[in-house]
Amino acid sequence: MKTVEIEPTFESWQAAARALLRDGVPPADVRWREASSVEQPLLPSEPSSAGGAKVPRQFLDLARRAAAATDPSRWQILYDTLWRLVHEDRELLKNARDPGVRRLHALLTPTAAEPETAGAAAFIPSGAGLAELKAAAARCKGCDLYRHATQTVFGRGSADARIVLVGEQPGDQEDLQGAPFVGPAGEVFDRALAEAGLAREKLYVTNAVKHFKFEQRGKRRIHQTPRASELNACRPWLEAELTLLKPEVLVCLGATAARAIFGDKFRITKDRGRFAPTRWAPKTIATYHPSAVLRGEDDAQKAELYGMLLDDLRKVARA
Ligand code: SF4
Repeated sequence: MKTVEIEPTFESWQAAARALLRDGVPPADVRWREASSVEQPLLPSEPSSAGGAKVPRQFLDLARRAAAATDPSRWQILYDTLWRLVHEDRELLKNARDPGVRRLHALLTPTAAEPETAGAAAFIPSGAGLAELKAAAARCKGCDLYRHATQTVFGRGSADARIVLVGEQPGDQEDLQGAPFVGPAGEVFDRALAEAGLAREKLYVTNAVKHFKFEQRGKRRIHQTPRASELNACRPWLEAELTLLKPEVLVCLGATAARAIFGDKFRITKDRGRFAPTRWAPKTIATYHPSAVLRGEDDAQKAELYGMLLDDLRKVARA
């Protein structure tokens, strides 16, 4: 029996599962144990393979969501499923009656430990402009994220912006400085905007979730992906911003923002880079979050991700 110690994050499980798969270790020979001191990248990458074996994109999406559950058996369930996808049946996930698939889906069902939150709607003053919205958002307690973050990070930019960009949530530096896209990802963002010919002062930049969600590990605050319930709780702020701004072009940066706008079925790797009309803007497009560039596995992957981000922003500039 092999004991594998991971952080309770999708990225940590994924790295360990890849190695186990590569070494041919079956699920029955693995005991998963959660630790809290393993250094990991801040955000997940967008892999298309596990241990060199291709797995359906649907599994990776399910695995990310299942990793956010609290059931301690989720790592075993995920590795069981991964193993069977690779060694038994690549179409396994289509079999909704399979006990393993059912266990996987059960992880995604909200439990009493993850209650739906009241949401931000009650904190939004009617008839408010952007400045009033920002002031009101500073007092929001629509979900639990305000409890640990430094401050609300509201959208920033021109009230006349024709182009609005939406990210996922503030990061460590954004939380401390109270402004979106000012940390390391903000530097990538600024570089890509400049190369694409987009002037940041003419844009409006915001996030789908306005408080930083993180896990404290020693002195480090490690980004955590917001749950669907937190995304829903915070959605009224984004909708209020978009209702006022009425952008011609709306850009979703990363999977969380894309799902907030296009819905749960949107897949950033498959659906990015194409304009589509939404209720918020006649031209809505999704691309990679600048932080995805930073977490590329090596320089080549970082360059590739940056190239895709830049290509998509150039389309926005031309639009
Ligand atoms: S994350 Fe959004 S809904 Fe939750 S407290 Fe912050 S502003 Fe309110």
